Amino acid sequence: MTISEVTNARISTDAAQPAIKATQVHKAFGSLHVLKGVDLTVMPGTVTVILGPSGSGKSTFLRLINQLETITGGTIEVDGELIGYKYVNKGSGQVLQTLNDKEVAKQREKLGMVFQRFNLFPHMTALENVMEAPVHVQRKPKKEARDLAVAELQRVGLGDRLDYYPAQLSGGQQQRVAIARALAMKPEIMLFDEPTSALDPELVGEVLNVMRSLANDGMTMVCVTHEIGFAREVADQIVFMDGGVVVEKGGPDIIDHPSEPRFKDFLQHVL
Ligand code: ADP
Ligand code: MG
Repeated sequence: MTISEVTNARISTDAAQPAIKATQVHKAFGSLHVLKGVDLTVMPGTVTVILGPSGSGKSTFLRLINQLETITGGTIEVDGELIGYKYVNKGSGQVLQTLNDKEVAKQREKLGMVFQRFNLFPHMTALENVMEAPVHVQRKPKKEARDLAVAELQRVGLGDRLDYYPAQLSGGQQQRVAIARALAMKPEIMLFDEPTSALDPELVGEVLNVMRSLANDGMTMVCVTHEIGFAREVADQIVFMDGGVVVEKGGPDIIDHPSEPRFKDFLQHVL
């Protein structure tokens, strides 16, 4: 093989490698079977919006991707790497073994997650909240972490609120700090779980604007949200979940032209 053939082969495999590939994912909590065979592929640099009624398993699915829950069946790959497990040589063949905490933590560094409730440390300023993980988890020097945190807070439009405590910030500002906090860990993928659901209506827009600009910067994102306008405008892929399965999946056009009755019904209730 010539060098250019090798390079081309690499480029073509890299381009085809999904950021996330979930295959027949199942999750049960005791006898409660919550996810019943979810398949999903997320390509790098794309935005996937997951829609679905309450209780359909959306949060559980995101939590599985981020290894906040353990999977009951199926596989999830992030960047081509199986999460939670590794193959080890044993006797004549290879067996799957669960990863240890350190290995799980390393895989989780690829993912940033933003929740409905922002859970900022109340006794720390915005800047300190964003610096916390880079300093204490990644062991970055304080100065470097500070510069990074300032840059991420500027990115979410809070460059003038560095020294404010959470209680001095609006809900929308607090959620933007939470986004900056996730970004400061330099994730490859951002997972959003109803990031605007806890906000007063007038504060939703500023958070969606930050998410929109992240998408425009090419961030790979998976967002659970009921913001249909955002989904229509920003998503590359829409996934409608109900009852622990993906009922319908497609481009943003499926919002205006749903084919599955359950999706149609859901849209009539949220639009
Ligand atoms: P959604 O985010 O779509 O509203 P969830 O993933 O939060 O749905 O929940 C799906 C189902 O799983 C619900 O019935 C919920 O009560 C249940 N569930 C979620 N987490 C747990 C848990 N830790 N233990 C038991 N049941 C859970
Ligand atoms: Mg949820």
